[in-house]
Amino acid sequence: MTSTAATTRYALITGANKGLGRETARQLGRLGMTVLIGARDDERGERAARELREDGLDARFLRLDVTDQAVVDRAAADIRREYGRLDVLINNAGVVEADQNPSETTVETTERIYRTNVFGVIAVTHAVLPLLRAAGAGRVVNVSSRLGSLHKAADLAAPHRALLAYNSSKAALNSLTLHYAREFADTPLKFNSVTPGAVPTDLSCHQGNRTVEEGARVVVRLATLAADGPTGGFFDDHGPVAW
Ligand code: NAP
Repeated sequence: MTSTAATTRYALITGANKGLGRETARQLGRLGMTVLIGARDDERGERAARELREDGLDARFLRLDVTDQAVVDRAAADIRREYGRLDVLINNAGVVEADQNPSETTVETTERIYRTNVFGVIAVTHAVLPLLRAAGAGRVVNVSSRLGSLHKAADLAAPHRALLAYNSSKAALNSLTLHYAREFADTPLKFNSVTPGAVPTDLSCHQGNRTVEEGARVVVRLATLAADGPTGGFFDDHGPVAW
């Protein structure tokens, strides 16, 4: 750890080599944070970090496949050794299945989606928790989706995309947010879920009515909450949204 490490703020963004993750890293980097570009592929991760550095940001690639416990543990150990703490964790890495009827979605597909969107979040969060505590006021943002809203799904007359694994994985992610927020309610740590809206990325097959810059804004807002900010909430740009 260097002497500047005490004043620098460190943010880890999972799945930061493209899409919302990369844009979130860019926006946090512009706020002066050192951004750790979590990516499962060395070439893609290095390239994203290099491009952000070329824009004048302090971006560093960190190999991180959220579904591989050994890799997750190694990444947390690297952060501990290099920086000693972590101020912000953005659980952004996510995958989706193709549209299909819920009753046609296989267990294998559901397991694959949950491994990244749910179990990966648990693995990464637990691995870096001591580093978030060491930072004093750690902020965890779980990048969820309005498709995970049970309130929305419960309106059977309203249109809702049929994605059994993805939608239920985001509902589970929201539940994780609440349970961590409860456990750490009496500490400076804050856990929140956000929904970025429909943003054209690879995951959304480039469909969406918002730019990636607009989508990342709510992530950054919850990642940079002041001490009196909320914990255990689900937010979009306009404020709280129904679970
Ligand atoms: P994206 O451009 O496809 O990015 C997804 C990122 O997750 C990629 O960097 C991908 O890495 C990474 N990833 C997938 N599996 C991983 C794993 N096992 N370990 C580490 N990284 C992994 O999609 P996006 O739209 O930006 O999605 C980011 C988050 O936003 C997701 O959680 C998604 O559910 C959420 N979201 C998106 C929208 C939208 O409209 N786009 C709406 C609501 C919520 P590779 O490049 O290696 O595949």
